[in-house]
Amino acid sequence: MTILGIESSCDDTAAAVVRGVPSNAHVLSNVVFGQTDAHAAFGGVVPEIAARAHAEKIDLAIEGALSQAGLGLDKIDAIAVTAGPGLVGGVLSGVMCAKGLSAATGLPLIGVNHLAGHALTPQLTDGIAFPYVMLLVSGGHCQFLLVQGHDDYTRLGGTIDDAPGEAFDKTARILALPQPGGPSVERHAKAGNDRAFALPRPLLNRDDCNMSFSGLKTAILRARDDVIDQHGGLPSSIRSDLCASFQAAVRDVLVAKSRKAMAAARALTPEIRSFAVAGGVAANGTIRSALEAFCAETDTTFVAPPLSLCTDNAAMIAYAGLIRLQHGQIDDMSLTARPRWPLDQTSPTLSGSGK
Ligand code: ATP
Ligand code: FE
Repeated sequence: MTILGIESSCDDTAAAVVRGVPSNAHVLSNVVFGQTDAHAAFGGVVPEIAARAHAEKIDLAIEGALSQAGLGLDKIDAIAVTAGPGLVGGVLSGVMCAKGLSAATGLPLIGVNHLAGHALTPQLTDGIAFPYVMLLVSGGHCQFLLVQGHDDYTRLGGTIDDAPGEAFDKTARILALPQPGGPSVERHAKAGNDRAFALPRPLLNRDDCNMSFSGLKTAILRARDDVIDQHGGLPSSIRSDLCASFQAAVRDVLVAKSRKAMAAARALTPEIRSFAVAGGVAANGTIRSALEAFCAETDTTFVAPPLSLCTDNAAMIAYAGLIRLQHGQIDDMSLTARPRWPLDQTSPTLSGSGK
């Protein structure tokens, strides 16, 4: 089966072609048009700008994905599209475009939950079998999911406030480092001492999988102000120490809570042996190796997809669509955008008000 995937739920316009069968599929093409520059001046994603950029770029992304794959629409078996959750204007661009293509070609139309796309990526990249625990850690999300099937997700816990990527971005802003904050903070942390500042590890001793990162950002702000008071500025060596200390705090919380998430998952399904990570923060070398070490120590298989498939992309949507197609889960022209769409309701046409 060969599936065309379309993704436009946030600030990336993406299309991709994936071929194969569940647990054994490969990516034939993966095109992503980012919008970072368009939003840079506003300090965050502006929904109207995002919607317009999606509408402008979506045809190009689809043409690019088909031509990179060397295929015409006549070689495609179905069209999968993100139907939510996300910014409604962006999701609508993708859904309308997919509906148009489906109506024109007669190809089946499949609405996909964006988070399910992320959660199924380890199976696309590494072919791992269900069940597994997935840590989705990005600029907008931070949650542990027990994935027992393509339609079977249990949320084990997550952040109660900011996502870690957001905390990295805010920390970079506080320390006058360029956006996106994650890579800048990681680069500066390399030269720093991660014990120089005693930053909080919120909720660490609580026996659940919930996390909190907003206090960490406030602690960085206070520490920076103290340094400026003492030194009349922010010396670059101390800035590196702050970056390293911040990164270590995030790492410690993620590792400790991953341990709790695996234990909670084991209580529900004792045969669980795999742990996967996805989302932009999974690109962080320090965090990635700490998670890898924790898995090695507990005899758990660690899966970290390549970054191009960890961040928003359409290959994950095509793969989720491929599985849904195999299960006969096809949508009709009533498919619509669902800005809020909890993962425990994976059918896109389900009614309900969302999370
Ligand atoms: P979502 O897709 O969940 O709505 P998003 O679009 O922000 O959110 P991603 O594109 O997956 O998510 O990730 C971007 C985030 O990852 C940013 O906050 C960025 O700072 C962070 N990030 C990227 N690289 C690194 C890194 N090396 N270390 C830490 N964080 C990083
Ligand atoms: Fe995402």
